[in-house]
Amino acid sequence: MSADGPQDATPVTRARQRAALETLPFDDTRDFEDAARGFVATLPEVEIKNAQGRVVWSLRDYAFLASAEAPPTVNPSLWRQARLNLHHGLFQVTERVYQVRGFDLSNMTLIEGERGVIVVDPLISTEVARAGLDLYRAHRGDRPVTAVIYSHSHTDHYGGVRGVLDEAEVAAGLVPVVAPARFMEEVVSEAVLAGTAMIRRGQFQFGATLPKGPRGQVDAGLGKGTSRGTVTLIPPTVTIAEPIETHRLDGIEIVFQLTPETEAPAEMHMFYPVLRALNLAENATHNLHNLYPIRGAQVRDANAWAKYIDEARDRFGRGADVAFAQHHWPVWGTERVQEFLAAQRDLYKFLHDQTVRLMNHGFKAAEIAERLALPRGLAATWHVRGYYGTLSHNSKSVYQRYLGWYDANPASLDPLPPVERGGKYVEYMGGVAAALARAREDYARGEYRFVAEVMSHLVFADPANREARRLGADALEQMGYAAEAATWRNAYLLGALELRQGRPDTTARAPVSPDLVRGMTLDLFFDYLAVRLNGERAEGERSVLNWVFPDLDRRYVLTLQNCALTYLAERQAERPDATITLARPVLDRLVLRELTIDAALAQGLATIAGDPKPVVRLFGLLDDFALMFDVIEPRR
Ligand SMILES: [Zn+2]
Repeated sequence: MSADGPQDATPVTRARQRAALETLPFDDTRDFEDAARGFVATLPEVEIKNAQGRVVWSLRDYAFLASAEAPPTVNPSLWRQARLNLHHGLFQVTERVYQVRGFDLSNMTLIEGERGVIVVDPLISTEVARAGLDLYRAHRGDRPVTAVIYSHSHTDHYGGVRGVLDEAEVAAGLVPVVAPARFMEEVVSEAVLAGTAMIRRGQFQFGATLPKGPRGQVDAGLGKGTSRGTVTLIPPTVTIAEPIETHRLDGIEIVFQLTPETEAPAEMHMFYPVLRALNLAENATHNLHNLYPIRGAQVRDANAWAKYIDEARDRFGRGADVAFAQHHWPVWGTERVQEFLAAQRDLYKFLHDQTVRLMNHGFKAAEIAERLALPRGLAATWHVRGYYGTLSHNSKSVYQRYLGWYDANPASLDPLPPVERGGKYVEYMGGVAAALARAREDYARGEYRFVAEVMSHLVFADPANREARRLGADALEQMGYAAEAATWRNAYLLGALELRQGRPDTTARAPVSPDLVRGMTLDLFFDYLAVRLNGERAEGERSVLNWVFPDLDRRYVLTLQNCALTYLAERQAERPDATITLARPVLDRLVLRELTIDAALAQGLATIAGDPKPVVRLFGLLDDFALMFDVIEPRR
């Protein structure tokens, strides 16, 4: 094996894997029975392509997971989860309730009504959603889709909707699309303002750009990974706004329980009383979830999360023969459902309360993260283990929610930025050679965390230092091999890959879904313009622009001064520098880059009264974001 490629597991890592094997209840195999239970059928090979023939989802590369025994380069607990997540196809959950699993990161749930079938969460992209629905119909008959429900505002729960539903049927009032309150706002805001940063950081969380294999990506914790087809969105026509609402859809009674600020800002559970089935959306799955996904997001509320699980358990648990979620596999039996929900509730409550307690004792986030361990009653429970979230980064997130990023030690209030800090560290450590020599000794002892940190200082001081990059990569890789969390493994291994190879050299921008752009409010559009304003180049610029959208009968005034772009809705300046008039679809095309402002003006799709120069100048001050920015080394 070349020193520039993935290494084998070291003796230290092998010992760590053996320790995991010895401490966890691997003889408890009930999850494997549950993950296979109700299997109806699957495709001969799960490889789904888009219209151009590009593969958007494939399980083909996961054949290496066939062996029950984990290789030394994968944590055995994660190996187990990776094998569980490989179950795929159509499964019967209970009478009238089916799930398509393993066709994407998430599950599509199908509930048979009087006239057709209700689809809960049509996966990430149209191609996989369509394939899932086709599989269902091949075995359950050609039932029409009579309703679509989005359980929450994350892409893996709505993006494939146009694969199962024609918008004309929605527009004609034939098929309701149901979602929790604030669904559209949350969908669009999360994906737009921080979109590029989150997509690039998401590569580290999901490991999509890593090779799959025992030394690469094995899983994503919640499922194998994310499909890469066409992302769409049909806006909901029915919004669940009350804490508890009961509706009848296609003859099926559904009790909706809103759970805002949990796994997603807009989310809801569903109970189907006649079917005695409880759908927990994504709040109770077979892993510790994220209070903060490492792709980046606003921190979630662990206390509310525990409370809503408890409410669901109290209100619906006794009437449920089965509980399931929009990821992973169900839990059957009323008693087991109660146990499952109690453990999930306690998990989030423990995390929240113990972090807050320790922070009130003056512990810093890193100290709390190091100290927290699952209580004995939970540690041996497979479904609370950290395959997606970890106790470590989740407890830091609880701290962040209450106290923010600052640990209150003024020495960390204004530290030098990475490049300058790296240079000083190297200098203080006695130079590159001395630092490398000590790091090699630590590496041999298995002190990977500190070796990775010090090598990062060396790389930021001098990104051309091949020795530092190699040793840093080796350290990250061993941490990846030993990690129980798929997300940490993916992050470590992609860090190692980019240290060895550099990042792919492309200036491509993050993909944007036209449906999401159309869903943007005008406020959000102007927020989006404002975060693209290059503050340095805008120095000294000053203009006031009126905007008129005749098709919507809406008006905005936009002010640029002091390198800040602000707006007021339903206002117009009396003496603007210019007034720009355009229809909303033209605006969408500008955002989607199907049209430049110059072309829109030239084609008469937008008109400017007054001086056109400030308008053209403003668009010239907007930055574009390249998706592949540097992460593990200084920005090029
Ligand atoms: Zn999800």
